[in-house]
Amino acid sequence: MGWTECCRFKSNRYDRIGLFFVALKESLTSRGEYMGFIRAVQDLSEGVHFQKKSHPFIQKIWDDETKILQIFLEVKELQLPMNPQFISFINLSNGDIEMDVEKSKQRYQFKRKPGSAKWQYSPLIQLGGGISATKLNQVLLNQFILKVRERLFDDLEKQGVLSAGSGEKIESWLKSKFSTIESMVDVKYKTTVVFGFSHNGVRYLPGDLLCFDDYFNQKIHKDIKKSVHAVPCSLCGQQTYEKFNLNGVFNFSTFDKPSFLPGVDEKNLAKVFPVCESCFRELSYGRTKVEEKFKNTYTIPKTEIWIIPEVVSGYSNNSEGLSKQLAVKNFEDYIENDASMREKRVLSALAQQGESLNFHFLFIEKDQSREALLSIIEDISPSLLKKLETIWIKNIKQFQSQGNSKLDSCFLFITYTIMKDGKSKTNQMEVAYRKQTAVSIVSKLLRGQPIQTRSLKQEFVSRYPQIMHMDEYATIIRNQFRVIEFIEQYNKEVSE
Ligand SMILES: [Zn+2]
Repeated sequence: MGWTECCRFKSNRYDRIGLFFVALKESLTSRGEYMGFIRAVQDLSEGVHFQKKSHPFIQKIWDDETKILQIFLEVKELQLPMNPQFISFINLSNGDIEMDVEKSKQRYQFKRKPGSAKWQYSPLIQLGGGISATKLNQVLLNQFILKVRERLFDDLEKQGVLSAGSGEKIESWLKSKFSTIESMVDVKYKTTVVFGFSHNGVRYLPGDLLCFDDYFNQKIHKDIKKSVHAVPCSLCGQQTYEKFNLNGVFNFSTFDKPSFLPGVDEKNLAKVFPVCESCFRELSYGRTKVEEKFKNTYTIPKTEIWIIPEVVSGYSNNSEGLSKQLAVKNFEDYIENDASMREKRVLSALAQQGESLNFHFLFIEKDQSREALLSIIEDISPSLLKKLETIWIKNIKQFQSQGNSKLDSCFLFITYTIMKDGKSKTNQMEVAYRKQTAVSIVSKLLRGQPIQTRSLKQEFVSRYPQIMHMDEYATIIRNQFRVIEFIEQYNKEVSE
């Protein structure tokens, strides 16, 4: 069908949304495997020695917009239960005090808590950002002090880390130091308040004290299922009595659906896909690493593209562990080389890798603590990515455009044209539909599957009545042509 013929079609695009979701779900579940990416995530922990039980779970709390307010409590003895005497020191830090991010992470021992929990993994509270200066006083007085009491110290007392009555004392000391605390919070930044402990002039952050490692670990074990009979771990095959649920690592709603993994049943996930404690730790470490190092957040709004490298060849068996580690490290160094540009050139960096690495891609929509898996693409070789980049360079020349020749720009151009161009007002269904279309097309490009352009042409043409009233109509339509041309060229090359 030609480009202009599409105009004759008058379809309600929302009718197609339902169908689209069915197709997406099928593509996610029909193969029922996805062991490749799970193993690749686990492999990222190879050669890493976990220093403490909490080590594989610890996440970074700060970025350039975060300040950390440290409040130290002097304790009588460094023995459980600890008995706080007074606030000994208050200090504002930018978090990276050690200049060694890994070391700093271990000292703060942060992990995001599950949404409904009335506790934290470590004695710290995030105040968040966006507090107005005039409301700071109220936020601190009404929310912060209350949260500290309820979420931190009540539970620490209950678990025997602090002596009975500590929470009440700490609350009154915080109130007495209120003006100091208020003066230290800079509303331009997100603030995280961390409680440390001091004894005889030495200050300890939570991660410096073993009792907080135990406390953290006890929270991790909350979701553990113990069984009477040992079962083999789905990943390493070791017999285990303690079964962890994969949902504890990947909070994707998709895991709840039958057949995402072989025979996974909604109610009995841990029974069908039991993971032993050591595999659970390795997976958790790998996930954190992917989130911190190998993700792209700017191609599709509110969606993270996780990129998981997997070493596939070229390493001898006897030194496999070390060499795998080295291959992943080289890749990590390559994309970290220009940290400020890291995210904006990560896809292009993948295309430059040798054939010893393959990649898995996960598209994850994030909404606070909820994660929805939109698409998963396994085992992609750098040669396919390179091919996509070459087609993009041809497209730039063909349209005599000044565009950036990186694969990242190509994907951004496609998703932007599909999602944003020619849009006059926000309509939630329309936004969701456009996003699903973009995810579907980018997924197919990454898989090297042919893409039918017919429905995309119809979609573009259906926007014309709106576009024609816009000043930039010529650019928008030209962009649409470029996307169609790119896909047609890609179809030709992948079918060869
Ligand atoms: Zn295992």
